[in-house]
Amino acid sequence: MIFRCLKCGKLSFDILCKECDIEVNFYKKDDVVSFYRYDDIEFLLKFKYQKNGSIVFKYLSKPFAKFAKEFKFKAFVIPIESKREVGYSHTAILAKALKTSYLTPLYSSLIDKSNVRYAGKSLEFRKNHPREFIYNGKSGIDAILVDDVKTTGLTITCAKEVLKKHNVNVLFSVVLSDKSLV
Ligand SMILES: [Zn+2]
Repeated sequence: MIFRCLKCGKLSFDILCKECDIEVNFYKKDDVVSFYRYDDIEFLLKFKYQKNGSIVFKYLSKPFAKFAKEFKFKAFVIPIESKREVGYSHTAILAKALKTSYLTPLYSSLIDKSNVRYAGKSLEFRKNHPREFIYNGKSGIDAILVDDVKTTGLTITCAKEVLKKHNVNVLFSVVLSDKSLV
């Protein structure tokens, strides 16, 4: 396929041309693994609620697939999802990239019913509008939690609390970018 680079507009074989390709690194802080600097991908995350967002998230999920290959033990992958606003789940795309013979995604197992958008909101707002997670997946398992961006860590903390009640042991979380690194 031929695209127009989303950054410079030149014709390209992917959504970004070679010159605009984003640097991928491996970051680990506490129990959160991430791959991109937030500033580098902010312009791409804006496509999340658009119909071509799935292409953007597939592009961004490439380091997830590489990371997953290192895993040689069985675990499940749980994407943090919200009620669908568009025709695809962006975190399900990231979870799918982690799928190997060892890692099994549990799609639509952890859903936030509150449907509050946290992007650009203060910590106070986030605390006053907590997530309302419903979990309908397996219990008694080891799992890797998946989200797009870690900002304050509130969403991940809240998801873990709910999963703990279902006897799900969260090994660590994987996100595209951890804003608290900056
Ligand atoms: Zn470009």
